[in-house]
Amino acid sequence: MLQTTPFAEDTIVALATPSGTGAIAVIRLSGPDAIKICNKVFFGKNLEKQTSHTVHFGTIRENDVIVDEVLATVFVAPHSYTRENSVEVSCHASPYIIQKLINLFIKNGARTAKPGEFTLRAFLNGQLDLSQAEAVADLIASRTEASHNMALRQLRGGFSNELKVLRQQLIDFAALIELELDFSEEDVEFANRPQLKALINSIQSVIRKLISSFDLGNAIKNGIPVVISGKPNVGKSTLLNALLNEERAIVSEIAGTTRDTIEDEINIGGINFRFIDTAGIRETSDKIEAIGVEKAYEKIRQSAVVIYLFDPEETDAKELGEIVLELSKHTSAESILLVANKLDKGNEQEWKKRYKELNGVLFISARDKVHLDQFTETLLHKAHVDQLNNDETMISNVRHLEALQKTNEALDDTLHLMDQPFGGELLAFEIKRALHHLGEITGDISNEDLLDSIFTRFCIGK
Ligand code: GDP
Repeated sequence: MLQTTPFAEDTIVALATPSGTGAIAVIRLSGPDAIKICNKVFFGKNLEKQTSHTVHFGTIRENDVIVDEVLATVFVAPHSYTRENSVEVSCHASPYIIQKLINLFIKNGARTAKPGEFTLRAFLNGQLDLSQAEAVADLIASRTEASHNMALRQLRGGFSNELKVLRQQLIDFAALIELELDFSEEDVEFANRPQLKALINSIQSVIRKLISSFDLGNAIKNGIPVVISGKPNVGKSTLLNALLNEERAIVSEIAGTTRDTIEDEINIGGINFRFIDTAGIRETSDKIEAIGVEKAYEKIRQSAVVIYLFDPEETDAKELGEIVLELSKHTSAESILLVANKLDKGNEQEWKKRYKELNGVLFISARDKVHLDQFTETLLHKAHVDQLNNDETMISNVRHLEALQKTNEALDDTLHLMDQPFGGELLAFEIKRALHHLGEITGDISNEDLLDSIFTRFCIGK
């Protein structure tokens, strides 16, 4: 259960900014003695006498020797991230100064924070629920507008507020059913069955919507996988480079799981796409049965969109039809995007006629950047991210997905039991099961293992 009084008796310290040399670093202290410990080595105003949310200039000294000139921001409990007394010391970011200051704070009574411990304290002190704490990690890791929006929405309460209200209503019903059990000999019904059914239905409709948002939420968080295939020299690299320049995105090459796959991350329309160029697929157009192609097909199955790029001078409609047929065995027809490249060498009308049997072929010139806007529009559409609603709640966390699925199952069983003649004991049990899984998401139900597994994924200082 959430605690309303600070649970920790010790004060923790850690660097809150990335390590290494820089202009400024922030060292964060939190705990009952945070202000007192900082004040012992801070020369300037008496920090213990300052009001919350104030910044003070001073020097930090060791045995009267100045270590650095700093700014100390004071947060008085409960008005801080952790709800404890906290100080954020902004110093010059030299690894020497940082180490020296942290050591000084430790000498004066603080201890090094464990990974995620600031956020863990925020959670244990009731500042954040568990899904919000997880959103802090997602927010810091987000690299695109869409993933940033999603994390921010979750941090601000997102779906957990909605779930909390429904959970409370279910708790009230569970209490009434328990009460019926106490009066079991008298055959009374305190819990209004039609109302209970209506509540379960409305909880399930929220839950199912969240469950179905997972695929997209997860894709937004981790990048939408797109396979780009086609024979050698059709212009795949040229197309990816053109997209990169258009979007002025940061490129990163991720080493694939196999040596023959290369991934390029490109931010298109605020969404991170992971373009997977599989060497194996290059063979597919010629030798469908080629060894190694299976690996490529696995990538296709995992992708949201499969782009097949071709040069009309080399590929006629019949061959293209065969390729589509083959690809359709591994992915849905809607996720295939046929793109004819090198439009500068041909005639759009004539090409359109040639491929008229095949729906939705795009004609571009990667080199001359012709029709690239059409291409990105179609890509966003096929990945189902063209009409993203910023207010829509999405889940992106496997832990939440599993808890929601288990809640849904328990509620299915509850509804089923309500249609049976036997008594309330099983019903009470199933409702409790649903409440348990629902509570796992917000952290109303948690245990040390779960908290460990969540917070150790944070960095120290978060
Ligand atoms: P990849 O093997 O599929 O990655 O193909 P590349 O991107 O390396 O391109 C192969 C060749 O086709 C290069 O010489 C490119 O300049 C050329 N190329 C790419 N796109 C176009 C295009 O739109 N028009 C023309 N004429 N040439 C292109």
